[in-house]
Amino acid sequence: MLRIPNASLVTRCTLAIFVSVIATLSTTLIHAAPRQATAGTPPATNVILFIGDGMDEHQITMARNYLYDSEGMFSMEKMPVRSSVRVKTLREDNPDHFRYVADSANTASTLATGFFTSKGRISTSAHGDVDQKTILEDAQAQRYRTGLVTTSSLTDATPAAFATHAAHRYCQSASAMHFANSALDKTQQCARDLKKNGGPGSIAEQLAAADIDVLLGGGTDLFNQRLEVDESNHSTILDKALSHGYQFLSTKEESQTAHSKTRLLGLFARTHLPVEWQGEHHRRAELIKTDNQGKAIFPRPFSCEKNPDHRDTPELAEMTSRAIQALSQNNDNGFFLMVEGASIDKQAHERNPCGQIGEIQAFDKAVSVGRQFAAQQTNTLIIVTADHGHAGQVVPLPESYQASSNALKIESYPTGYYAVLKTLSGELMAVNYATNSSPHSQWETHTGINVPVFMEGPGLEHIPVLTDQRAINQLMRRHLKLH
Ligand SMILES: [Zn+2]
Repeated sequence: MLRIPNASLVTRCTLAIFVSVIATLSTTLIHAAPRQATAGTPPATNVILFIGDGMDEHQITMARNYLYDSEGMFSMEKMPVRSSVRVKTLREDNPDHFRYVADSANTASTLATGFFTSKGRISTSAHGDVDQKTILEDAQAQRYRTGLVTTSSLTDATPAAFATHAAHRYCQSASAMHFANSALDKTQQCARDLKKNGGPGSIAEQLAAADIDVLLGGGTDLFNQRLEVDESNHSTILDKALSHGYQFLSTKEESQTAHSKTRLLGLFARTHLPVEWQGEHHRRAELIKTDNQGKAIFPRPFSCEKNPDHRDTPELAEMTSRAIQALSQNNDNGFFLMVEGASIDKQAHERNPCGQIGEIQAFDKAVSVGRQFAAQQTNTLIIVTADHGHAGQVVPLPESYQASSNALKIESYPTGYYAVLKTLSGELMAVNYATNSSPHSQWETHTGINVPVFMEGPGLEHIPVLTDQRAINQLMRRHLKLH
């Protein structure tokens, strides 16, 4: 982050039995109705932005096939307006040119600021490292309440891009900033963001000081780190946040029952929240093996099941409900809220189709909560989109490959990692991950496909069929009357 004197540019300032109860759950998640506009009082103006990290059409299709077969659809797919979103990424070394595959940092930054930037950046300009004002910061300045909800650490790229500014997403804590420097290009090193060098400090420290009304997600490990510059009593970043008047929530029970008129900081995991689903016996996609005649041995089919590690974790829909309640009660002005389903992306990286499907279902339940609120408070704009594409593909079943005349040639089989899922309706669905097929690699990568945007609310009469993330920012700003 570069300090420059132009104040206008600079501001400091992320089973089966459960499917049938989604609708029932979503109708009970709004615990308290928002205040309705009284006669002569204009209705509050609200924006809820839902970001499914890595949730392109292929990932949605995989989850929809598994959960609803060929007839059903997600709540987000019932929204009345949709478009296709081009994802643009600038080159750090030459911002006049583009890259065609993005990361969550630069895309969340564009959704947050309305400016394109380069990979890794947190609401700072490519190469120039100038802070770009975010919609959350502008909304705060206009006395809107604000909130960030995520299944990742709150310091992860997507939530960070809405409320902080950094040369790179790795600059999450003071210690991380020292470590990250050696791994980063010169223009994106964290050192310049350190307070001792005149910067705003780590992402965690910036979040703690950002006066956001609701922060719910993970990241206890980051918030328990020491302040970079501690002039008083060895305080942690969490201490600093609490001194700003936050009520601290750390359990699923507290996330649902604690009621307070103060701001909320909920940290429900050391880093990212546990995911909702896993494969039977922890199965994921696997490399296709061959027998001694060179014939393929495809992985056996498996189903998805609940992840027991998620049991004591608040669901994304529950956190969304709590955030909406806190932001809307006794508030005639309105609010901006960003809700991220972060682990759709993280599970795709790990070639875990059941992890992805469970997270997309959880994300869609959160969208239902937002849509239910918007039905009551009609001056609410709901935007549901993704930041970038990902690696999962729905591909033919083994029988299609085995029927081939070249069935004994390994070249005839899918490259990469392959899984066959038994869907809830009993069908079989094959899924493939092939962006990084090394048997030694643990990690798939993003892809450059367009992502969808689903919209509901006022002001959506002239949405083009092909849009981009800058235009989504402008649409949200227009609704909140921000400039
Ligand atoms: Zn990713």
